[in-house]
Amino acid sequence: MAEKKKKLTSNFGAPVGDDQNSLTAGIPGPVLMQDVHLLEKLAHFDRERIPERVVHAKGAGAYGYFEVTGDVTRYTKAKFLSEVGKKTDLFVRFSTVGGEKGSADAERDPRGFAVKFYTEEGNYDLVGNNTPIFFIRDPLKFPDFIHTQKRNPATNCKDPDMFWDFLSLTPESVHQVTILFSDRGTPKTYRHMNGYGSHTFKWYNDKGEYFWVQYHLKTEAGIQNFTAEEADSMKVKDPDHATRDLYDSIEKGEYPAWRLEVQIMTPEQAADYRFDPFDITKVWPHADFPPVTVGRMVLDRNPENYFAEVEQSAFSPGNFVPGIAASPDKMLQGRLFSYPDTHRHRLGPNYHMLPVNSAKNCPMHNYQRDGLMRFDSNGGGQPNYYPNSFNGPAPDESASDPAFEVSGQGVRQKYTHPNDDFVQAGDLYRKVMSDTDRGNLISNITGNLGGAQKRIQLRQSAIFYKADKEYGARIAEGLGLDLKEVERLAAMSPEERAEATAG
Ligand code: NDP
Repeated sequence: MAEKKKKLTSNFGAPVGDDQNSLTAGIPGPVLMQDVHLLEKLAHFDRERIPERVVHAKGAGAYGYFEVTGDVTRYTKAKFLSEVGKKTDLFVRFSTVGGEKGSADAERDPRGFAVKFYTEEGNYDLVGNNTPIFFIRDPLKFPDFIHTQKRNPATNCKDPDMFWDFLSLTPESVHQVTILFSDRGTPKTYRHMNGYGSHTFKWYNDKGEYFWVQYHLKTEAGIQNFTAEEADSMKVKDPDHATRDLYDSIEKGEYPAWRLEVQIMTPEQAADYRFDPFDITKVWPHADFPPVTVGRMVLDRNPENYFAEVEQSAFSPGNFVPGIAASPDKMLQGRLFSYPDTHRHRLGPNYHMLPVNSAKNCPMHNYQRDGLMRFDSNGGGQPNYYPNSFNGPAPDESASDPAFEVSGQGVRQKYTHPNDDFVQAGDLYRKVMSDTDRGNLISNITGNLGGAQKRIQLRQSAIFYKADKEYGARIAEGLGLDLKEVERLAAMSPEERAEATAG
């Protein structure tokens, strides 16, 4: 039997008699102030937009589950990983990074890959990207880096000078730039890319032993990318192609899936490893730290309402559960603040209570009260302070992270690790990429860097040259630059190079 037609009401439930004709004083009008239905409708419409995320504004999301397929209990006491076969509900949001909410899905950009596991010990968020590394290793540089991908303050247009000026003055970015300008910078869909936790995280077991881990989510669909030409034509044909693809695949029952692997490093290995294992600009080589399979993630349900569930979803790399904790990675430490801070700005201090964000598989009890849009019972008549002798919620010592050693001076120090910024970018170019990958990389870079001023082109080419001589030489050739000048700049210190190419 067809569902009985619902009656239209005001926001407060009163029936509405007419939703087509405003109340007027005579015919044709003017409109009367006392048309409160019209006022409510317009006023709510005026407030429909919330601030868009300053990064990762354009995204798509879906629900699914995670199933444990490998025993990792000797490394972590996280309950959702405690048993092979155990399943945990989750929500995933994919995104581009730099563009606005209306930008095209096929833009060259890293892709956000954020997973919220609704575990029985609280929500665990793995807030990663489709790249295992990042452009910078210090959060002090993050707002500047993002500004370079936003619009020029004067022209309000995207500006290759801003982007390449910053990157060429920040040599640690060259590894990520090399991935971004390979065809992996334009994944064919969200289903055809890997996800990475990118940072190093800490796992600890119930004996208090700890391990450093890196997460990899490997797509079962296989990696597929657009060439630059294909991406450009998709931007025109369907700016929402990846959003549409994710939704349609799930509707058709073709559920995207990923295998979760971790690389594991002991504290002893970390202490004398050949480079800093907490440096987000580097990967851990597979040969040294072979990936261990943990489980499988499947996305099998679309959200019913995009705004409620995807736009209002809020992830934080600081949402840990017992058995998982932070590492000293400076970028991670910065994100621990910035993510929840941005959500409080975007959604308000009670954003954790929105259905997509709330702890679904365990209760939430604490002494936080009130605030904008507190829409549950706000703790009712229970005590709102701790300690109390009225049977209020109490901390459980067994949930504390194990103590960890910290030593040294409080200092702002330049990165001084003996290994340099160029080795892994060079390895990627020389050892991992095919001839086709290298050819596309060169044309993708020259096509974009060619829009920047010549002095910036020279400085950036010197950075590529330092990663690999052939790589730098091919970029220089593609841009019509003097190779001798590129070599001269490559031999300089970063400070001398900046001086020699100043505007
Ligand atoms: P391996 O040969 O063991 O691994 C190379 C990995 O590179 C592959 O497993 C694949 O990772 C990834 N890869 C393949 N083609 C491309 C491409 N065109 N662009 C970017 N990544 C690609 O060597 P190492 O572990 O010693 O790493 C060598 C280099 O590979 C690194 O310097 C890094 O640039 C890159 N890399 C390494 C990863 C790691 O975690 N060790 C992960 C990704 C890249 P995947 O299966 O994750 O796609």
